[in-house]
Amino acid sequence: MDKATRDRMQNAEILDTYIHPPDQPWIPFPGADGIGIKVLRVSSETGTWTALFNCAVGSGFARHKHLGAGEYLMISGKMEVRGGVQAGGITAVAGDYGYEPTGIIHDWTNFVEETVFYFTNYGALQFMDDDDNTVAVLDWQGILAIASMAPALAAV
Ligand code: ZN
Repeated sequence: MDKATRDRMQNAEILDTYIHPPDQPWIPFPGADGIGIKVLRVSSETGTWTALFNCAVGSGFARHKHLGAGEYLMISGKMEVRGGVQAGGITAVAGDYGYEPTGIIHDWTNFVEETVFYFTNYGALQFMDDDDNTVAVLDWQGILAIASMAPALAAV
């Protein structure tokens, strides 16, 4: 059996994911004015999801806890996590990578420039009020629900 046939047989049971995000619309991210999301991949098996976020100047993510770790790569702009470096947090700019461990709380993540970043989350986000009461939990099913709001979204 030649290599191409072997590879085809091997890959027949495993599907690549390939999409072209420039063809996708930004979908408004619920509860965060000025933030759009393009869902790239959602795993119902592990609960992991990957997305691009586009954040307008002055927008931000409300207080939340990561119920699964997250990783980001800044494509453009500037993101201030926990008030930014001047407040003891992180200021991330284009090219920067960050890892957000399970359980970490981000009181307020804000964008001081128009920002695009790539994000993979290995679980859900728990949005909380200032007394740590749960406001919303966004898991992979919630991400799929957001993605379904885009009429031209590729299958995930
Ligand atoms: Zn966060």
